[in-house]
Amino acid sequence: MLLILTKILLEIVRPEFINGGSCHPRSRLESPLALPFTMALLRQTWDNSAFYTNSDDPRIATTIEALKGAIAALAEICAPFSDRIATAETLPKDQFNGLIAEVRAIHRQRTDISKKLGNLRTFIASILSVDSQDARASACKPTLQQLGAEVSQATTALDVFLTRASDDFIQALIADPDLAELSFSIQHSRKLKDQLLTVAEEQLVTGLSVNGLHSWGNLYTELAGTLKCTVEGNEVGLAKAFNLLSSPRREIRSEAWHGVKAAWEGRAETVAVILNAINGWRLEETKQRGRQRTLHYLDKSCHQSRIDRATLDALMATTYQGREIGQRALTAMGKVLGITPMAPWDLFAPPPTAHDAPVFTFEEAIELVAKAFRQLTPAMGDFAVMMAEKGWIDAKPTPNRATGAYCTGFSEPREPRIFMTFEGSMNNVLTLAHELGHAWHNWVMRDLPRYQTYYSMTLAETASIFAETLVRDALLEQASTPEQKLAIAWEDGAAAVTFLLNIPARFTFEQKLVEARQ
Ligand SMILES: [Zn+2]
Repeated sequence: MLLILTKILLEIVRPEFINGGSCHPRSRLESPLALPFTMALLRQTWDNSAFYTNSDDPRIATTIEALKGAIAALAEICAPFSDRIATAETLPKDQFNGLIAEVRAIHRQRTDISKKLGNLRTFIASILSVDSQDARASACKPTLQQLGAEVSQATTALDVFLTRASDDFIQALIADPDLAELSFSIQHSRKLKDQLLTVAEEQLVTGLSVNGLHSWGNLYTELAGTLKCTVEGNEVGLAKAFNLLSSPRREIRSEAWHGVKAAWEGRAETVAVILNAINGWRLEETKQRGRQRTLHYLDKSCHQSRIDRATLDALMATTYQGREIGQRALTAMGKVLGITPMAPWDLFAPPPTAHDAPVFTFEEAIELVAKAFRQLTPAMGDFAVMMAEKGWIDAKPTPNRATGAYCTGFSEPREPRIFMTFEGSMNNVLTLAHELGHAWHNWVMRDLPRYQTYYSMTLAETASIFAETLVRDALLEQASTPEQKLAIAWEDGAAAVTFLLNIPARFTFEQKLVEARQ
C-alpha cells in the first residue's frame, strides 16, 4: 500500500507540463525538430467502441448480470477446497490427478471471468478519466469493485489450499500444461504461508474491504475530481491547476500552487479521516497476519512489489545519499531562472527559453517518438504510430479530466490504452514516450499466457523510463542551439529533483504518518 500510494503521488508530481495553455496563446515556431509527416490519420481521442458504446450501453448491465452468475458458479466449484485445507500438507499421491483436474476447471472459469471483468473495468475507468462527472460510470465503479472482491472470496479456499499444500503436490500441479502459467504466482503466494488467516477470516477481510478500505480510495478519487480553485479569475479543476504549475509566468504558478493547497485545506478534515482509516486498516491487518511472525507494515507492499525489504532499504538509502545531485540541479535551475531560493511552486517551472522552445502538434510528437523508438527496433516505432492510428491514446484536454497520465489495457483482446493530456510541450512528448514504453511492454507480451504477464510497479517503470530515455537522447542529438540543449537538460534536472528529492520526501512523510498512526 505504501508503494501504491507513492505511485499515486508520483502521478501527482509528474503533471503534464504546458507552455501556456488556453490563457497564453502558443507561438508555433518552425524548428529543426519538426519532422516530415506522411502518416495515416492519427487520433488524439480514444475509440473504445469495440467494447461498449458509452456508459449507458445496455450491454454493461447484461455483462454485470452474466458475471454475477459466473462468479456464483465459480464459488460453488471452489467450495470443496475449504474442507481440504486441514490436510493440504499431507495429501496422498493417488488424489493428485483428481484435484488437478478440479483446479484446471476453476482456472478456466476464473480466467474467463477476469477477462470479462477486466474489459468492463478498463472501459468504465476510461470514461471516468475523460469525464470524472459521468454519473453512470461513477455508479458502476463500486459494483465492479464488489464483483472483484466476490471473485477473490470465491477462490479464497483454493488459494489458501494452494499456499498450504505440499511441495510434491504443487510440483505435480504446475507440471500440468494448462496450469504451468500459474507457477510463478503460486510460488510467490506460498512465501506468505505463515501469514494466512483462516478461510473464513480471509473471506471476511476481502468482503469488508469493499465498503471499508476501497471506499476510502474511491472517496479520495472523487474528491480530487471535483475540487476547484481559481487561477487568474478562472475556476479550474485540479488537473488544469497542476498543468499551470509549469506555466512560464511565476505569478500563475504561485496562484495555482496556493489554489491547489487551499482547495485541499478546505477538505483537511475529510482527507485526515481518509488517511487515518487507510493506515488504521493497514496496521490492523499487519497485526492480524503477524500472529506467527511479527510483520512490518512495509512487508506487504514489498511482497506485492516483488522486492525484498533489503532492496527497498538500499534504494531509499542510495536516493538519500544522492540527494545532493537533486539539490544542485534545483539550485542550477534557480540560477538560470533568476530565482533564489526556489519556492515549491517553482519545481515545475519551464526553462526561461520555453516560449521559444518548439511546440509540438500531437502528430509531430508521435512521429518524433516513433523515430526515436525505430533506432532501437523498427517494430517499436511502428507500434507508436499504430497506437495513435487505432485511437488507443486519449490525450485531448476535456473539462472534468483526471490528473496525471497512465497506461492501461483491455483483457480480451489484449490491447493497450494510454491516457494523458497533451498540450504540445516537450514534457508532454516525454510523458507520451513514457506511457508508450509501458504500452510496448504490454504489447510484446500479448501472446504470453495471462498469468505470466502480471508484473509489479518495480518492473513496470523499467520499460517506460527506458522508452522516455530513448526519446530524450534523440531530442538531445537533434538539438542544434544552446536553448534547445538547455530545454532537454532542464528535463534531466527536473527528473533529478523529482526522483532524488520530491518522491523520497513523500515516502518519508508517509512512513512517518504510518508510524504516528501506530
Ligand atoms: Zn510509468
